Amino acid sequence: MARIAFIGVGNMGGPMSTNLAKAQHQVRAFDLSDKALKAAQDGGATVANSVADAVKDAEIVITMLPAGAHVREVYMGPAGIFENAPKGCLFIDSSTIDVATTREVIAAAKVAGFEMVDAPVSGGTGGAAAGTLTFMVGGEQNAFNRGRPAFDAMGKTIVHCGDAGAGQAVKACNNMMLAISMIGVAEGFNLADALGIDRQVVYDVCSTATANSWALSTYCPVPGPAPNSPANRDYEAGFTADMMLKDLRLAQDAAQKAGVSTPLGSEAQALYALYSNMGRGHKDFSGIIQMLRGKANE
Ligand code: NAD
Repeated sequence: MARIAFIGVGNMGGPMSTNLAKAQHQVRAFDLSDKALKAAQDGGATVANSVADAVKDAEIVITMLPAGAHVREVYMGPAGIFENAPKGCLFIDSSTIDVATTREVIAAAKVAGFEMVDAPVSGGTGGAAAGTLTFMVGGEQNAFNRGRPAFDAMGKTIVHCGDAGAGQAVKACNNMMLAISMIGVAEGFNLADALGIDRQVVYDVCSTATANSWALSTYCPVPGPAPNSPANRDYEAGFTADMMLKDLRLAQDAAQKAGVSTPLGSEAQALYALYSNMGRGHKDFSGIIQMLRGKANE
């Protein structure tokens, strides 16, 4: 079993570190938040008092941080991971960040003599707690293989997507597609409502016809047809609109840099920004159906 440093044990990283400890890995956690550290400790990690202290004996370092700036700072900054990790240590960044920063940090790791992969996840806090996350991994095959036991302790579906940055790229594409399809499903239900059609009938037909999608059949944005969807609990978040907005911004950033036209992705970003600015960013992303109906909170 490996000695693993885990930096960033918040809503996602906390339960992920607990699953590593449950799988008998020796986990040493660091976070700026005492509350997050305490929860990680309760889950079986030992607590470090700095990034340097966390990584000093590590075989693997995993980071789960809010955004690209944090990742750059924690790896490349003074007293960061590059300066303090032992030779041969493998780095896994599971944060959801932009492709450009990911490629920059992985290239710098290589220059410093370390193998590193990007490994963003899908599955939310529920998947993190249950150990059923999907990992989308970018980087060299050898690094992917070395990380595999750690991924297996935290996730169920582990996919090697390609070279450095490929994990972030796949995640951005997935969430852009999901946001667009959710808005499409929401518009369909709103039109059907206005035309006086029973929602269950719309669901029964469309979920078995050509319009079917995960957003419709599993995560249906109106209450009733899919009993476990957030619509049935006043859009209490499984995946918040603000998280979706973050991912749409990352997708648009990547599209602009690559010179790709993504008009519906751009529109989805604008709509989620509007929904967030209405004070609904903490709600589930499927709640956007209410805004599209002209009623942001009913
Ligand atoms: P979070 O805010 O709960 O956790 C991030 C943690 O990083 C915090 O505890 C914070 O104190 C810590 N941190 C920030 N800067 C630090 C530093 N310099 N050194 C040490 N610790 C530092 O966020 P989260 O929900 O756990 O999300 C983490 C990442 O996972 C994000 O990139 C997010 O986009 C991604 N993600 C989240 C979800 C989700 O449903 N929450 C799903 C998939 C992916």
